[in-house]
Amino acid sequence: MYLHNTYTKQKEEFKPIETNKVRVYSCGPTVYSHPHIGNFRSFIAADILCRYLRYKGYQVIQVMNITDVGHLTTDDNLTSDEEGIDKIQLAAEAEKKSPLEIARFYTDKFFHLAKTLNLHPASHYPRATEHILEMIELIKKLLERGYCYEREGNIYYRISKFPNYGHLSGNTLENLIAGARVDIRGEKENPLDFALWKHDPKHLMQWDSPWGKGFPGWHLECSAMSLKYLGRTFDIHTGGEDNIFPHHECEIAQSEAYTGQPVVRYWFHTKHLLVDNQKMSKSSGNFYTVEDILNKGYHPMVLRYALMSSHYRQQMNFTIEGLNSARGAVERLINFKRMIEKKSGASGAINSETLITDTKKAFEDALDDDLNISGALGTIFNMINEINKLQISGTEALFIKEEFYNFDKVLGILEMDTPETLDKEIERLIKEREQARENKDYKQADQIRETLKKKGIILEDTSQGTKWRKELSRWDRLL
Ligand SMILES: [Zn+2]
Repeated sequence: MYLHNTYTKQKEEFKPIETNKVRVYSCGPTVYSHPHIGNFRSFIAADILCRYLRYKGYQVIQVMNITDVGHLTTDDNLTSDEEGIDKIQLAAEAEKKSPLEIARFYTDKFFHLAKTLNLHPASHYPRATEHILEMIELIKKLLERGYCYEREGNIYYRISKFPNYGHLSGNTLENLIAGARVDIRGEKENPLDFALWKHDPKHLMQWDSPWGKGFPGWHLECSAMSLKYLGRTFDIHTGGEDNIFPHHECEIAQSEAYTGQPVVRYWFHTKHLLVDNQKMSKSSGNFYTVEDILNKGYHPMVLRYALMSSHYRQQMNFTIEGLNSARGAVERLINFKRMIEKKSGASGAINSETLITDTKKAFEDALDDDLNISGALGTIFNMINEINKLQISGTEALFIKEEFYNFDKVLGILEMDTPETLDKEIERLIKEREQARENKDYKQADQIRETLKKKGIILEDTSQGTKWRKELSRWDRLL
């Protein structure tokens, strides 16, 4: 398998540190607002990567951090990135809640949407606020080694001690210094030095440290938590391309100063998403949260398909027409799945063996080539076209089904489909429950809800009537 590595700027053969195990760190959400489709494009790209690694037989340990402190807003009017305000704090002030309430609410929201869009749950979702001690320990070590210095309760990273700074983003130190903003506090030795710990009496979240009360910088959490959960060297680090600089550049500087060795072997970054060929922004009116799209009536499978079906390193142009054609593609996959599920009996010949073997090979060749997802999808649709021309027997349907389900372990689209017979049964029970509610027989209505829950079906009463979805139990411990 080949993956493009942002660090070396080339496609490289992927070789994990341990033969059968792959350790992946994914930059997760900052939990201060409703996740948008761009956030989820990046999470879904990491999901496809991990799913494909599992398909290939690797055990995958994926860690995704939850940023619930320290991620500052950046604004061109500010003189320095570090003069921004903590996104969680801003949301807390706007919504008149505590930072903890904001973080909890949007963490749950993220988990709920991740489950809805059928992301395979990560092995760990560490929260920054629960790893302050680890971050303080990391700073202590870096101070001892001269990689940091203290100014008025702030701790800054000393860039001059780390000549490799800029390698990941392809910047030279000279260029970065020329483009750096002036440090208005005048505390830093070098304008590029970044804060690991901040002293700010106005900040709503404060922790004790050897340098007085303060809070950690955003970059620090990813170093502390990746080292804690994945060790001193791990295989893959994922994120959106906007994370490359300064976030991941700073993470490398911190982690490598701590371990004295390269920490990440492959850097995997997903390109930005455009909406109607423009940068997505609230002021342009082309900003979509995940829920905006689901509330338009698009099935989560359709949104998942739309976000994953272009290559992760290509800029994706998200449009409603694109979403509609994703719906068409998902319908074709579902119709095919239901067609082969309906064929019964274990008799008859298998005529599609070569076709399936060729499809499997083409599917894997495409994904082995830096996750060429459109190539992989193309081979599946080819296969569907060919099989639709054949008269297939029950035995053959079983044979095809097995491979088809295997492909979907990577795509994660069809797992969300419930067999049609169950659909009809659910619809009947929902009608019965609505009738019971009309008759104010809430006991029976609750019983029906419970019956469905036992079948793994969750009901949601919305303004547009009762909706149902299939429960994916592996997420339950997180929600
Ligand atoms: Zn990160």
